[in-house]
Amino acid sequence: MTEPDFAKGILYFSAMGLEEKVNSVRLVFENLDQQIAGFQSKTTLHCKWGCGQCCFKPDIEATILEFLPFAFHLHQLGKAETWLETLEDSDSSVCHILNATQSGAGLCSEYEHRGLICRLFGYSARTNKYGKKELITCQIIKGEQTRAYEIANTEIDQELSVPVMNQFYMQLHGIDFELTKDFYPINEAIHKAIEVVLHYFAYRD
Ligand code: SF4
Repeated sequence: MTEPDFAKGILYFSAMGLEEKVNSVRLVFENLDQQIAGFQSKTTLHCKWGCGQCCFKPDIEATILEFLPFAFHLHQLGKAETWLETLEDSDSSVCHILNATQSGAGLCSEYEHRGLICRLFGYSARTNKYGKKELITCQIIKGEQTRAYEIANTEIDQELSVPVMNQFYMQLHGIDFELTKDFYPINEAIHKAIEVVLHYFAYRD
């Protein structure tokens, strides 16, 4: 990312402080998580315990803004620079937050701070060219929860409420268009979010 973008970023932050921007993103995430919990309880669709297979996808893309809360969290822990270096030294396209040996429900080592794409995948819909909603979920859920998936995929076009992917990206656009207009490979989005936060505090101080 070149210097002028940061200058613009700082201008954006002068209008709405970094912490206020981070909290606005967190509010979008909280609202989405509630909608997804409602959708899961109505459909019974759920991730396989300990799965995390979707996180191994090498082509996950994200915006800078959706990882700003994570970058801010790292800064508060004094770990932002270390993460930046580690990301610069790594040439893996698999998400750096993934912990393949982690025990528990999934393999995300920073589940609370995961991005928007991470929350949407599995339990949201996109609208196709005919205006019909299509559920975006994984092959494991389709294969192992086929009946529940087929019912849900039908009912989302009737009365079943489901989060719609682009509507949540539009909400992030409303918070900061500059930090959401481009999608990057996930590790690059995380790297840029950390740069934005470090720059903000470097300029501010
Ligand atoms: S941030 Fe977490 S949930 Fe998202 S891809 Fe990385 S490991 Fe998976």
